[in-house]
Amino acid sequence: MKILIVNCGSSSLKGAVLDHASGARHASIKVERIGEPEPRMRINHGDWESIQADGHKLALEIGLSRLVAALPDDIKVDAVAHRVVHGGDAFDRPTVIDEDVEAAIEENFVLAPLHNPANLAGIKAAQQILPDVPHVAVFDTAFHSTLPNRAKNYAIPKSYAAEHRIRRYGFHGNSHHYVALKAAEYMEADERDLRIITCHLGNGCSVAAVEFGRSVETSMGMTPLEGLVMGTRVGDIDPGILLTMLRNGMDVDELDRFLNKECGLAGLSGVGNDMRDIEERAADGDDACRQAIQVFSHRVRKYIGSYAAVMGGVDAIVFTAGIGENSSQARHRIAQRLEYMGAVLDEDANRDASVDKFDNPVAEISSRNSRVRILVVATDEQFQIAKDAANHLIEEQRSHGELTIPVAVSARHVHLTQEAVEGLFGEGYQLTERNPLSQPGQFACNETVTVVGPKRQLERVRILGPTRSKNQVEISRTDEFYLGIDAPVRASGDVANSPGCTLIGTDGRTVELKEGVICAWRHIHMTPEDAELFGVQDRDVVEVAVSSGGRDLVFGDVLVRVKSSYKLEMHIDTDEGNAAELSKGAEGALISTDQSAHLTRRRTKYD
Ligand code: ADP
Repeated sequence: MKILIVNCGSSSLKGAVLDHASGARHASIKVERIGEPEPRMRINHGDWESIQADGHKLALEIGLSRLVAALPDDIKVDAVAHRVVHGGDAFDRPTVIDEDVEAAIEENFVLAPLHNPANLAGIKAAQQILPDVPHVAVFDTAFHSTLPNRAKNYAIPKSYAAEHRIRRYGFHGNSHHYVALKAAEYMEADERDLRIITCHLGNGCSVAAVEFGRSVETSMGMTPLEGLVMGTRVGDIDPGILLTMLRNGMDVDELDRFLNKECGLAGLSGVGNDMRDIEERAADGDDACRQAIQVFSHRVRKYIGSYAAVMGGVDAIVFTAGIGENSSQARHRIAQRLEYMGAVLDEDANRDASVDKFDNPVAEISSRNSRVRILVVATDEQFQIAKDAANHLIEEQRSHGELTIPVAVSARHVHLTQEAVEGLFGEGYQLTERNPLSQPGQFACNETVTVVGPKRQLERVRILGPTRSKNQVEISRTDEFYLGIDAPVRASGDVANSPGCTLIGTDGRTVELKEGVICAWRHIHMTPEDAELFGVQDRDVVEVAVSSGGRDLVFGDVLVRVKSSYKLEMHIDTDEGNAAELSKGAEGALISTDQSAHLTRRRTKYD
């Protein structure tokens, strides 16, 4: 699926169209200064151009329509996925947006006043531009919906917490989820067997404890203010300090701005929030910058230690986002005293680590004797959002029986080698095309043959082209009885040790086949993209239900065949088609892919 990701902030919009299976980008946009006098945008990382738009809504609509217009001709957007920061209690998974969902996002304005209103504005603008595709909300908080109560609850009276929905929600969920999966893939392990601490260190910073695939602790809380020292956000602070500030005369808005914009690395260093500048100044001997780095690293290390305790151990520590991916110094400082828990940094690997999300997403920086793997992983939140949105839509289509497969009934036919063609029709003879078949490159020929069995013969059996490396005669069970041949059920191409027969061409020329007569194993042709959609792999064996009004049937033992040159279609023979009374244009629904017992047996046979 091609998914348009919309990430709309209060004054910016980031958008991209991605392939949900590969993560490949087809186009991207960045719009800045929305709501200011001169908004500007850049498509596909090109030059900035100003947008003539008065107001927030128009700037978003112009930006999104330019993004859609920038797509190559053959790329159409199948769905839009919106990053929504706060899902509150209502959302623990991606959700197709309707009026109720919009209202619920609005109810969460109070929990994320800086983010959710902007996210909803993005949703409304994108609905204007793409009204005919599904829009899905993917929440930053959803990955942390698995936090146990002991991690979720603050020590405040239950009734007050319930009334004001005060609890730990956690953020950066798409990033924590993505890098945990990437780390497990790199370690060639199932994430359900691993305890991973993921450190997202960007402008916003958070840590998560991902135990056996589920988030069980995270450092951001009800809002993204809690936890680590961030670019400008304060992170953990004694609540008594807030009381002191209020008593000192700060009002709520001043306090809000102070905690969100004037603290963190910027507040500690006095030179701004960019870790690169702070590291440079620290190297030149600036005390405040040195201390900023020390406080920052100390806080991360403290969280790593406590999350190892929470999970009763740790298998991997992952660093990601701007600082996590790029600052070897920050990683060195954070990891330098973790040996006691079996996490030993390889200083050279740490210094040399370089990752990018497309070509080199993971770098290992732990030493060989480290029991805990330490990894740098390039995060890709957009890809995770695209995957989650697409998988949700596919699951919905599946559960509503909307994913259908065209079913075609194949009459008896013959595939021939060039040698057999010449044996039947004369030297140098070339098959001639009568009409193309649905599978690309395949065609029915003008030529036919007579298939002769021990009991009887079948005349005018159609030859299908082009020629192949092996002869193959595909007949139904009824044909077998008629001819007197006991042919096995086989996948196409698997003719070894099958019975033979005699073929008669024009002018009485005959060819003796030693083997090649089979009863075709019912199968589905599909492309890798189809396979992704249906959640199956090449050579899986599945069940397909067909309804024909009166003689509905479920076909078990249906073989899946995946190749990029195929076109989605299920092939059954005439006996099977008649049993279900199928007519032209019939469709089937894949109802079960859980055929593992058959799979082993059939795969062996097919191989
Ligand atoms: P955001 O949370 O806005 O997505 P990023 O993940 O891009 O932020 O991270 C931004 C932070 O990463 C900034 O503090 C920046 O200084 C830091 N950063 C980026 N590159 C480097 C680098 N090479 N060395 C140290 N810090 C870096």
